[in-house]
Amino acid sequence: MEAKDKAIEYIDGIADKITEVSHKIWGYAELSLKEFKSADLYVNVCQEMGFEVKKGISGIDTAFTASFGSGKPVIGILAEYDALSGLSQEAFCPEKKPLVPGGSGHGCGHNMLGAGSFGAACAVKDYLEKSGKEGTVILFGCPGEEGGAAKAFMARDGVWKGLDCALTWHPGDTNEVSTGTCNSSIQVLYKYKGIAAHAAGNPEMGRSALDAVELLNIGVQFLREHMPADCRIHYAIIDGGGVSPNVVQPEASVLYMVRSVDVADSVALQARVDKIAEGAAMMTETTYERQFIDGTANTVPNTVLEKLMHDNLQYVPLPEHTEEEKEFAAKVYATYEKNGKLPGMGAQYDKDIAEKVKELVKGCPEGLYDFVMPFYSGDEFHPGSTDVGDVSWETPAVQFNTVCFAADAPGHSWQNVSFGGSTIGDKGTVQASKVLACAAIDLFEDPNILEAAKNEHKKRMEGKEYLCPIPEGAVPIAI
Ligand SMILES: [Zn+2]
Ligand SMILES: [Zn+2]
Repeated sequence: MEAKDKAIEYIDGIADKITEVSHKIWGYAELSLKEFKSADLYVNVCQEMGFEVKKGISGIDTAFTASFGSGKPVIGILAEYDALSGLSQEAFCPEKKPLVPGGSGHGCGHNMLGAGSFGAACAVKDYLEKSGKEGTVILFGCPGEEGGAAKAFMARDGVWKGLDCALTWHPGDTNEVSTGTCNSSIQVLYKYKGIAAHAAGNPEMGRSALDAVELLNIGVQFLREHMPADCRIHYAIIDGGGVSPNVVQPEASVLYMVRSVDVADSVALQARVDKIAEGAAMMTETTYERQFIDGTANTVPNTVLEKLMHDNLQYVPLPEHTEEEKEFAAKVYATYEKNGKLPGMGAQYDKDIAEKVKELVKGCPEGLYDFVMPFYSGDEFHPGSTDVGDVSWETPAVQFNTVCFAADAPGHSWQNVSFGGSTIGDKGTVQASKVLACAAIDLFEDPNILEAAKNEHKKRMEGKEYLCPIPEGAVPIAI
């Protein structure tokens, strides 16, 4: 299609800008909800490109929207830009080598995620301008994916309801559409306060916050027998009170995370943990503060949009990798254990796809799955969580991956940080821009696709209602 070919050409023309943004954000490596420089950069480049920019969406300083166009359809493209602690690493380097010891790094590749989405929004804007078509494109700056769940806060405030659909991607080790559903999750921090005392001399005067944390944990262990089988409860004692056993600990905190396939079950389970937390305070005569941290819903898949994304993954020419890049990938590939599984979702569930993938893998350079995975769409459950889930309850949404990382590379790893600052990452990012832009253009050109995607969404929502895991009044907190 001519319009799509022009968009691909347009993106090639701004590829330097896209990768410049990606590299700058790679360098900032700011943690969840503290992405101040990264958000400012996006605000500036989006304004430069002629978008109407709003900052501070849903009360989150580092969230923004950049819009262009008017009227329907309204297509959202999602960007993320938070990094992870402890993953500082030199770019394009095949061995573990922190840039700043103990510093943070883009181990999930969100420097690329945001930049790729930004490039796509620019191309869609150019398409709308040149074609004179009615419609709106909005780039959503969504901070705190690794912690903070900005998209879920935006869902609570009805932000996604105004969209006809939402498109996003994530750097990966395959060129593949994401499908299926995932876990919902809710995090709550319980901070207990007691009274310090000499643990041997005046124990009767002390009230132990640490005892409260332990009793809460024991209560939750007994709860496990009586919760739905697909639920999970995790916890981390983030403050044990101190290092002196001869002191009755006056302060202690534990962070809880509940998970379930259905967000409504997570909300119900969380309320039961709250009761145990209350009981622990009563038993120990301590007080406590309950601090809501974040929550995300499970994803609602959309086969129509998945097919659209797959078609465009095939439409956009795959990037070619140089000998230097292949050598780098092979060296990084040698640094971790392999799980022996075939890559991609489809190969896990479909025998025919598994056979095809087996052949495709044989033709790959070591450490790079440089082909498009066969199409697979299903409702299978994957145990991770993402705040894209909350978007997908409110509007048809889709995610896909392009090859930005080494084959089978562990998630949240130094290897991914290294790739995220390499030309392999750059190529995957620009490819993602093209796929997103071409898919959006298809949606503007052929209203039937959007209609079908919306009908599917409606059908999947029958008898269900989005129960937002974020309570009214909660504000995002960076832990
Ligand atoms: Zn991540
Ligand atoms: Zn991520």
